[in-house]
Amino acid sequence: MPELKALPYLDALTPYQGSANKVEDKGAKIRLCYNEGAFGPSPRAVEALRAAAFNQHRYPDMGYDGLRAALAARHRLEAARIVCGAGSDDLIALLTRAFMREGDEAICSQYGFSMYPVAIRVAGGVPVPVPENNFETGLDAMLKAVTPRTKIVFLANPNNPTGSWLRRGAMAAFLHDLPENILVAYDAAYAEYMDDEDYSDGFEWVRDEGRVCVLRTFSKIHGLAGLRVGWCYGSQVIADALNRVRNPFNLALGAEAAALAALRDEAFVESCRAHTIIWREKLFDHLMQCGFHPYPSKGNFVLAGLHSAAHVKDLLKFLEERDILIRPMGGYGLPDCVRISVGREEEMKALFKALNEFTGTQNDDEIQKENHDNADESRPVP
Ligand SMILES: *Cc1c(COP(=O)(O)O)cnc(C)c1O
Repeated sequence: MPELKALPYLDALTPYQGSANKVEDKGAKIRLCYNEGAFGPSPRAVEALRAAAFNQHRYPDMGYDGLRAALAARHRLEAARIVCGAGSDDLIALLTRAFMREGDEAICSQYGFSMYPVAIRVAGGVPVPVPENNFETGLDAMLKAVTPRTKIVFLANPNNPTGSWLRRGAMAAFLHDLPENILVAYDAAYAEYMDDEDYSDGFEWVRDEGRVCVLRTFSKIHGLAGLRVGWCYGSQVIADALNRVRNPFNLALGAEAAALAALRDEAFVESCRAHTIIWREKLFDHLMQCGFHPYPSKGNFVLAGLHSAAHVKDLLKFLEERDILIRPMGGYGLPDCVRISVGREEEMKALFKALNEFTGTQNDDEIQKENHDNADESRPVP
């Protein structure tokens, strides 16, 4: 009797590796391992979700016109070229389905977001990881990696987990040299946390006939990771393709309502952003003082090198005993690194104190002083 078999290339596939933390750890008090929004969703988004609860017998709007119109107005885009998805993960997978077939190649960065290779493999494609220079995306190496089989380049700017970012000029030069038939998925999941003037959110490169698309998410600054809302802005060719391959109802009714409300709460977004930028720099400095090797970041997290994989293991255990979860980077091929998300002020202070204890660093006075200095710092409503 012939046996049931899934597609052969699926055997070689490693499913997406989340944090090593278990489901039961999710009740832990201080979760700095998923780059989630430190302040949760905007109260207005919660309100919208509550209101939407009563309409759950209804199918959602297939075209989510309200959300697309609001996004278009906010960013001055064409609503017809926006496609939403169940998180940007959904859109990453849809791009691979629409633009590559078995045996095709997609280029990504060596320490790029680990969802890309997973999605590429599921589509039967071959991920082509390209080396980085000191944890920065190697654009020249990407150009060199192009072959006749290359269909997509995935790059995150800023990048997760390194936190590194590419300047507008470097990106423009890259696009100039890249063959026109290759899709560029410019993943700007952390764009809201950017404070470098010389950064492009990518929309300027999305032309009607173009090959660039920008990916954005409500999972980070809007604090809606649990609801799964992402969106893509691309040329008409890209938008049309995504609209053909996506499920008609790939954005839930409550998700659209909450995302719309979150988008309108500009004050909340601005205070999350201000808090994150301040504490990202404090986190960087503190990791330095503790003798770690942090890398500059424009995300809501900082990557840091420790002495060894054993050192990472000891630190994780030490922090876990204090109810603090951070992310080991072994899954990214960086066994001596950790990634730490920016949390609320009291969470960061607890982390800094624990790091001092772990490393025997004496800078508690420093924290007290900072505490005093920041007494009137504006903060989001929790
Ligand atoms: C977190 C993250 C996303 C967002 O994924 P969602 O599916 O929208 O939650 C996308 N890209 C990168 C690089 C990320 O770090």
